[in-house]
Amino acid sequence: MLLENERQQVAEYGRRMQAAGLCPGTSGNLSVCDREKGLFAVSPSGMAYEEIRLEDVTVLDFAGNVADGTRKPSSEWALHAAFYREKQNACAVVHTHALYCTTFAVLRQPLRAVHYCIAPALPAYDPERITESIVPVAPYQTFGTVELAEAAVRTCGEGNAVLLANHGIVVCGKSIKAAFSLMQDLEYLAQLQYQAQGGAYVLSDDQMQEAKKRFTTYGQKPGGSSGY
Ligand SMILES: [Zn+2]
Repeated sequence: MLLENERQQVAEYGRRMQAAGLCPGTSGNLSVCDREKGLFAVSPSGMAYEEIRLEDVTVLDFAGNVADGTRKPSSEWALHAAFYREKQNACAVVHTHALYCTTFAVLRQPLRAVHYCIAPALPAYDPERITESIVPVAPYQTFGTVELAEAAVRTCGEGNAVLLANHGIVVCGKSIKAAFSLMQDLEYLAQLQYQAQGGAYVLSDDQMQEAKKRFTTYGQKPGGSSGY
């Protein structure tokens, strides 16, 4: 079986997303990539997360050709493929219609630095360069299209997260653990931002630069980790 470990992660983290309330119905999808093989394992289309077994997870190459599996892949497989083609550090991609993130996607307003937990969504810390501290909104495109995939990756830029106008959110990470954690943190942040609308103090790009710097040494492993 190709990409057995990655398929296992897709099945396991799909259940975690469901349990965390991030995926109303069967919405959302996730994938894990083996960059050396140039393949990724992606959740199947329209299946309840609790029913997904290893053999239900489909393996595709970056052009969308099926390398292994019999199930129809997620309708957003092109979105996942575009992130792997364009973003060299992406090893996992998670897409959801999580309620508060999607609220801002409907408002077409970016997520802002109302809490420093936005840091892992921003471009990597660079002492020479301060970047804008937002999760931007990609223009609306029909779900499941190449146009949506291109708009999402382009708008995401060097960051690790992007809202999809009137649709949802996409995040990527160096592992499925990192991507899932970022999705949870951004849904928390979106809820805070929503509740504090009109009165929120937003952290400055300088303050977020300092937070990003601290994240590079945070946690148990070099390079930092989540769980602060
Ligand atoms: Zn969607």
